[in-house]
Amino acid sequence: MTQTQWTAVDNYITDLLIPSDSALDATIQSTIDANLPKINVAPNQGKLLHILAQIQGARRILELGTLAGYSTIWLARALPPGGKLITLEANPKHAEVARQNIDRAGLTKIVEIRIGAALDTLPQLANERQAPFDFVFIDADKVNIPDYFKWALKLTRRGSVIIVDNVIRKGAVIDADSSDENIQGVRKFNRLLAVETRVKATTIQTVGSKGYDGLTIALVIAD
Ligand code: SAM
Repeated sequence: MTQTQWTAVDNYITDLLIPSDSALDATIQSTIDANLPKINVAPNQGKLLHILAQIQGARRILELGTLAGYSTIWLARALPPGGKLITLEANPKHAEVARQNIDRAGLTKIVEIRIGAALDTLPQLANERQAPFDFVFIDADKVNIPDYFKWALKLTRRGSVIIVDNVIRKGAVIDADSSDENIQGVRKFNRLLAVETRVKATTIQTVGSKGYDGLTIALVIAD
């Protein structure tokens, strides 16, 4: 299989199952207009997150890595009335573009964007002693995934779901000697995951318009 085929099949799936949506389309366009990196999840991945959050019955969602708010919108739309999503973003420019997209999507009252490095905003969040999150999507920088996962465990409860994106990295995850700090971040996370008794987890390889990568899904099974 080639990238051309993966993209063509993703387009086929998207055309069939994911109707054009003005807020999501405008979010993608804003990414181009503002010259942001094109590293948002694909439409079928966004819908997967949406469906997983709904299966979980999530009322409170935490996202790490907002970019222009594309996955944020998919996830926020999974919430029932009264639901809340907090998304953490280090780059103020990304956060401002996301704010406009979230406003356009009519999600201003549901979504809160917190600007700052997640390793600074996560402890603040913990200090506020809010109710646990039901669903966490980790999609910020990859080197800090091990710490983000530890924070996700602190901020969730039994029954919560934690998704970690980009954990295969074109297969480079199996290179123990990689000098890429992102790969080593993912490998350290995998070692943590392997011995973490508070979750039941698996990792799935994916191909598609985003290339060859994968995601981890973890179900919190103990407080
Ligand atoms: N989840 C988004 C989506 O699918 O639409 C894509 C997020 S993008 C892969 C990663 C984002 O994480 C970028 O906007 C980047 O600025 C942000 N980021 C990078 N390092 C961060 C950090 N230390 N704390 C919070 N956000 C960070």
